[in-house]
Amino acid sequence: MAAPSMGGVALPRGHGQVVRLPRGASLTDLAEKIGAQPAALVTALFHLGEMVTATQSVNDETLQLLGAEIEWDIQVVSPEDEDRELLETFDLTFGDEGDEEDWVARPPVVTVMGHVDHGKTKLLDAIRNSNVVAREAGGITQHIGAYQIVTELEDYERPITFIDTPGHESFTAMRARGAKVTDIVVLVVAADDGVMPQTVEALNHAQAAEVPIVVAVNKIDKEGANPAKIRQQLTEYGLVAEEYGGDTMFVDVSATTRQGLDELLTAILLTADASLDLRANAEQDPQGVVIEGKLDKGRGPVATVLVQRGTLRQGDSIVAGDAYGRVRSLLDEHGNKLKEALPARPVQVVGLTSVPRAGDTFLVVEEDRVARQIADRRQARIRNAQNASMRKRISLEDLDAALKENRQLNLIIKGDNSGTVEALEEALMKIEVSDDISLRVIHRGVGGITKSDIDLALADDVIVLGFNVRAEGQATELANREGVDVRYYSVIYQAIEEIEAALKGMLKPEYEEVALGSAEVREVFRVPRIGNVAGSIVRSGVITRNSKARLVRDGVVVADNLTVESLRRFKDDVTEVRDGYECGIGLGSFNDIKLEDVIETFEMREKPRA
Ligand code: GDP
Repeated sequence: MAAPSMGGVALPRGHGQVVRLPRGASLTDLAEKIGAQPAALVTALFHLGEMVTATQSVNDETLQLLGAEIEWDIQVVSPEDEDRELLETFDLTFGDEGDEEDWVARPPVVTVMGHVDHGKTKLLDAIRNSNVVAREAGGITQHIGAYQIVTELEDYERPITFIDTPGHESFTAMRARGAKVTDIVVLVVAADDGVMPQTVEALNHAQAAEVPIVVAVNKIDKEGANPAKIRQQLTEYGLVAEEYGGDTMFVDVSATTRQGLDELLTAILLTADASLDLRANAEQDPQGVVIEGKLDKGRGPVATVLVQRGTLRQGDSIVAGDAYGRVRSLLDEHGNKLKEALPARPVQVVGLTSVPRAGDTFLVVEEDRVARQIADRRQARIRNAQNASMRKRISLEDLDAALKENRQLNLIIKGDNSGTVEALEEALMKIEVSDDISLRVIHRGVGGITKSDIDLALADDVIVLGFNVRAEGQATELANREGVDVRYYSVIYQAIEEIEAALKGMLKPEYEEVALGSAEVREVFRVPRIGNVAGSIVRSGVITRNSKARLVRDGVVVADNLTVESLRRFKDDVTEVRDGYECGIGLGSFNDIKLEDVIETFEMREKPRA
């Protein structure tokens, strides 16, 4: 078989050889690996109906498509694999190390899930306040995204860690990033309401993650509470209460009266002891997951992390996602400084150079230099991946239209913490106005709006959104000078509404014809150097100068696209003539005017959008 020649440039066939590429690689990257000319690959893809440039990130399917054509087995390396490989180059692995015998028991990590309004938040608050140890310590409890309490079970003090961001989003987001944080899910179901859609969703998430569930039947203080019904309903989903012969613990509680809280904590521990072997190596280099990140006015980037293994200490060199730094201080949920944090301990870390995202993993490394290099490499990778996923595939048929019509609203999102930035982005991406208009987030981050954000915004049509943050110094000045649209919000819904409105504003306006008036021709005057003028009587509405017109003869449109170029009453030029009056109408160079013709005038009005 002849070598494929596409657009005259020969391509090296792979004959099934494997080539590995990171997600978001460009054709230039591929060309380099297989020894081809980037231009040849661009041409090859073009013939396959895909239009991309050599340096643009290409999505997975497109790479596969191209690979099949040129007989290379293109393996797109997942971000997780890639990160594993990245760590390997530094001789690091994310996971437990050493001999299992050296591992120590660690507390369970619990996430509270359930339908909205069933009492997740209140229950988390009630449990937090039940913490005797904390009350004795006298610290003020703060929301840092997770907390640990200590309860007593069979004369032993047993800590339990709660992730304090109830909701499925955080659970799923973390899981999506490959971070397995939760050991046990507490499924909250209101006894006066019953199993609801989000109850089922939560249950599905937990079961998919193979995380044991403890059911908290909440609001049993309320009239109409029917805890037995909840047990009954949940059997349909495979959760059978112990008292009915199953292996799921159901506990009746009231977050309001605090009834049943101790029993719930006991159930959590018993479930952990029965079905999980929760141990970790406390001696190795510390590792874990970021629960929450935010920018603090005084302290700079602050991340709440959950230590999963090892013991985190002040002074450690740490890399968390694409952020790095040296642990300046460790704080618990009461604001107390800690010397060290053991496995399953949530702790605030101060000292990072930027804000990591929820679900990012963290590692402690030997040297600052290593932390920085890993962070830099990850940053580059995140950028590539984002570029790839944001680029819309344009097929050849659509190309012309796309080039002409592709309207895109570009956004930069800045916010006070990574959770809100992500939530806002996610919500915005769900807005759908029309197929030919897309929303693209070209940059997002935690912190104030900086000059470099505005610089970036200048390159394109970009709206900069600040969520609970403001533009810093020079940035405001630059934005004002260059007319960059910067908008501030503190309520997500408001942001969504405005962006939706902006997108609608980008829709091509739709016009409709609105009749203005009609006039009947009674006489035709020949005016030297001007042409024929229709001596008419206005039959309906108003005839206005400069309005669009058409000429109708015997019910047939003779000419369309005319303009009322002159309008006179007697000798005077006028701008409009009403119903019942006579006037002279000149239709510019159009002279084919006859007696009894009807001149209809109209205008095109923009149709309001629903
Ligand atoms: P979430 O949406 O699941 O976080 O629910 P919340 O914790 O915000 O609670 C929703 C509403 O139910 C609030 O008005 C709470 O005060 C109320 N609530 C929560 N738990 C109980 C309870 O045990 N008993 C009663 N009577 N009301 C409760």
